[in-house]
Amino acid sequence: MIPRLVILGFAAVLTIVEVIKPLRARQHEPKSRRARRNLAVAGLAATAVQLIEQPVVMPLARLAERRRWGLVHALGLPPWLATMVALVALDYTLYLWHVLVHRSPVLWRFHAVHHADLDLDASTAVRFHFGELALSVPWRAAQIALIGVGPRTLALWQSATLLSVLFHHSNIRLPRAAERLLGYFLVTPSMHGIHHSMDDADMNANWSSGLSVWDRMHGTLRTDVPQDQIRIGVAGHDDPHDVTLPDILVEPFRSS
Ligand SMILES: [Zn+2]
Repeated sequence: MIPRLVILGFAAVLTIVEVIKPLRARQHEPKSRRARRNLAVAGLAATAVQLIEQPVVMPLARLAERRRWGLVHALGLPPWLATMVALVALDYTLYLWHVLVHRSPVLWRFHAVHHADLDLDASTAVRFHFGELALSVPWRAAQIALIGVGPRTLALWQSATLLSVLFHHSNIRLPRAAERLLGYFLVTPSMHGIHHSMDDADMNANWSSGLSVWDRMHGTLRTDVPQDQIRIGVAGHDDPHDVTLPDILVEPFRSS
């Protein structure tokens, strides 16, 4: 598990660099207004995680370890390799979950709240509707049971994924060589910026959340869209008055 202070410090550094070296300079809403809204959504999401997700997944992970359930135990790997395989398998199945939340109309209603931010920065990384997190619990439980994830590995993956998600949502411009080198292994801010485009072809690309290999493997990687040409958000919801805090919290429950 990565200490909370390290995660908060990382988010603070990203937020400072976003001001000094922005990747997309043009902003559609004031950053402070978006940050307040995104943190409010995140507060509800964190409550859902503490009340619904953690009470299910942590006991399940302890049970999976004790009963030696899942892939890593079936393979009979040494502990260090079992941890590595579990982390990679968790990351891949998160890629599949991300595709699913875009493809399933019900799940998309909730995931669209994350995408409806009109600009993209580190605060968007924690903007997930509490309903999306609640609906992800059965998937997370299946990941733990089928892969055989113990509580320590689960906690490590949760915090590593949070660091990765903060990083690739951030609006920071990396030096070109760093962007290219990192992009071979990890999802970068410019890759994920393309996924947040209103354009369908761009949005249906770059689904990975940690390692970028999954998009390469499935042919869903796009790197050829200039960042200043991307219109961030969800088509049809491009007016800031449509994406206020009450709007986005209620939107998934509205009958269409
Ligand atoms: Zn998405």
